[in-house]
Amino acid sequence: MATENEDELVDYDEEEEVAVGDKATAGEEAKETKKGHYVGIHASGFKDFLLKPELLRAIVDAGFEHPSEVQHETIPQAVLGGDIICQAKSGMGKTAVFTLATLQQANVEEAKVSVLVICHTRELAFQIAHEYERFSKYLPSVKTAVFYGGVPVKQNLEILKNDCPHIVVGTPGRILALARDKALNLGNIKHFVLDECDRVLESLDMRRDIQEIFRLTPHEKQVMLFSATLAKEVRPVCKKFFDVAWLALYYSKLAEAEKNRKLNDLLDALEFNQVVIFVSKVARAKELNRLLTECNFPSICIHGGMKQEERIKQYKSFKDFNARILVATDLFGRGIDIERVNVVINYDFPDESDQFLHRVGRAGRFGTKGIAISFISSEGDQEILSKVQSRFEVNIPELPDEIDMSTYMST
Ligand code: ADP
Repeated sequence: MATENEDELVDYDEEEEVAVGDKATAGEEAKETKKGHYVGIHASGFKDFLLKPELLRAIVDAGFEHPSEVQHETIPQAVLGGDIICQAKSGMGKTAVFTLATLQQANVEEAKVSVLVICHTRELAFQIAHEYERFSKYLPSVKTAVFYGGVPVKQNLEILKNDCPHIVVGTPGRILALARDKALNLGNIKHFVLDECDRVLESLDMRRDIQEIFRLTPHEKQVMLFSATLAKEVRPVCKKFFDVAWLALYYSKLAEAEKNRKLNDLLDALEFNQVVIFVSKVARAKELNRLLTECNFPSICIHGGMKQEERIKQYKSFKDFNARILVATDLFGRGIDIERVNVVINYDFPDESDQFLHRVGRAGRFGTKGIAISFISSEGDQEILSKVQSRFEVNIPELPDEIDMSTYMST
């Protein structure tokens, strides 16, 4: 959504947003559903969803007469590729929402994995794969595979090599292992489904795995999250998770006096398209901007001491790629809609955890990957860093000496 809207510089409250990620269907919000009723209450039939005749036949064979409420509410949006966050009790027919929506959209001309469904147990993975089999009964070219731990990896590898599936269902650990192995290529995923997402994100291990898996998939894709709990907390957790999941987050502990040196080193070492450096105060922004320019890192600066017109002028200039480095105070922290930004540096760590998300949650949102490095130079910084990790359910490790470029450059 690369709008030219100048209000971007003005604070806005994004808590009302329900969209997951920033997908291509600009302006379309993710459908959020919280329904408890079951079949039969809607007069509409599956026919109204304009599904392929092969799918409709399989639905009839399965004995489904009417869509359940959750199906009625989400299938229309899901088949159009919209992002979905769906909460409904077990047994309400959520599985059919994503199986039908992905089968409807899946491109099976090419031998590539384009649909990835992750869930937390082997049994569930098996069951979901079974649903795919059932609904693709009259679509003989669709191939589904299910991968989970406990089965020899060799079997999975053979399937991937000899008979590449279009749809992969699996548990996080095994999927990640196969992806790391390069046996499973996640570069063509168009639909990413997380079933029982609250359960998956509940466990730190799984969350890390999902984070890595998610980052291996292209930025532009349909994301569908399903959960059985009706807990209010689930949605923001899921949303925040996916807001930052594609970013590599690191911290670097150092003394205040070491910040400039470190920044210099990073700017030398990192291959950045454009970088935004956040500082805490107007005076610091001005000073750092001067210093950078002096050190042959031409930068521009936006801070709260500037008139609105001047800010907008600088913002536009950065957006037009007249400079690759921007020094900013927090007023710029909401709404960085600059697609080339792939590096964010928190030269000064924000003094509240929300601000962290506003800063980094925005970087490189248009298909680029990104990296955010935070300087931690006081106990206060450290405390907020811990808060950020627990609040947004992310793991922020220490910056390693060498950073793998592929974690923040799009390939
Ligand atoms: P959830 O994923 O919400 O826990 P499932 O998708 O597993 O629910 O559905 C529960 C059961 O209801 C399954 O056996 C499924 O085949 C059946 N079912 C789902 N939708 C319908 C429908 N519209 N009509 C009849 N049975 C349905």
